[in-house]
Amino acid sequence: MALLQDIIGGEPARQRRAMAKTITLLESTRADHRLHADALLNALLPATGDSFRLGISGVPGVGKSTFIEALGLHLISLGHRVAVLAVDPSSSVSGGSILGDKTRMEQLSVHPQAYIRPSPSSGTLGGVAERTREAMLVCEAAGYDVVIVETVGVGQSETAVQGMTDMFCLLQLPNAGDDLQAIKKGVMELADLVVINKADLDENAATRARAQISSALRLFGMHGHPDHLHHDQSVWHPTVIQMSALKNQGVDAFWATVSQFRDLQSSSGRMAARRRSQDEAWMWERIDAGLKARFKAHPAVREQIGPVADDVRNGVVAASVAARRLLDLFH
Ligand code: GDP
Repeated sequence: MALLQDIIGGEPARQRRAMAKTITLLESTRADHRLHADALLNALLPATGDSFRLGISGVPGVGKSTFIEALGLHLISLGHRVAVLAVDPSSSVSGGSILGDKTRMEQLSVHPQAYIRPSPSSGTLGGVAERTREAMLVCEAAGYDVVIVETVGVGQSETAVQGMTDMFCLLQLPNAGDDLQAIKKGVMELADLVVINKADLDENAATRARAQISSALRLFGMHGHPDHLHHDQSVWHPTVIQMSALKNQGVDAFWATVSQFRDLQSSSGRMAARRRSQDEAWMWERIDAGLKARFKAHPAVREQIGPVADDVRNGVVAASVAARRLLDLFH
């Protein structure tokens, strides 16, 4: 387990190589690699969990990489070590990953206190999310105490990132159309913090957007968390802030808000509870995916699934009856 030692206590260059090697191993589809990777992952586990996991999402062009570069450098100046990972489900289609691309974060990518890894391209969102979760543990074991997980605004990937982070932040542009999109897709409800970026372009629009999103968040709060009505100080109420990532305005205020959230969540026990339920939900999600794959590969099911699906399409057999028949073949 030389890799393990290098990740946990290796000198910087060795550590970086060991991290890259381990993450590549975790991303491999070969069965023997997977066995080795699983053993490594479990061995690393006791050294993980000490970081703050921050999810950042927003449509392309909203300013994610500009912001992460500014935030990362700010955090390093405060003494943190910063890892940046990405979940980009489209990378398997396009063949290349845009998110987490090092050229997008020029200074951060070459900083010795930062580690940037582009999105894995393993096909399904579930696969990409799994690799990213595992890479997050590797970064934590290596002592990165802030792990940023970036994603694009395409609904499902945001849910995946919210499900693996302690805090989920949504970047928005200062115009109402964009806000309404996010509200419609239900993404806003996932956010612990909404950041209106590019406030330098149009201050009035940014202020309007802030008021509009704040009232939308209050509405979600009333439905989802009755505590909100009583202004319970131990419960976090999602808030909206303005920023200009390009001009580096509001980045320190952003981190101050994140720190408030973190303090509140740790002292109330909600951060630990959120991680526990994320881990359990993730286990079940992977079991669901694994069972489905095994089900489809089962010889008797494979033989029957085509004709039975035809019968369902043709209205000859009820869908629920067909499902039961196929499930009965699966032992
Ligand atoms: P991403 O696709 O979300 O990663 O967005 P980028 O960080 O690549 O930014 C897209 C464009 O918006 C770039 O040209 C940035 O320079 C610009 N940009 C990012 N943040 C700001 C900002 O706060 N104000 C202004 N005016 N432009 C910004």
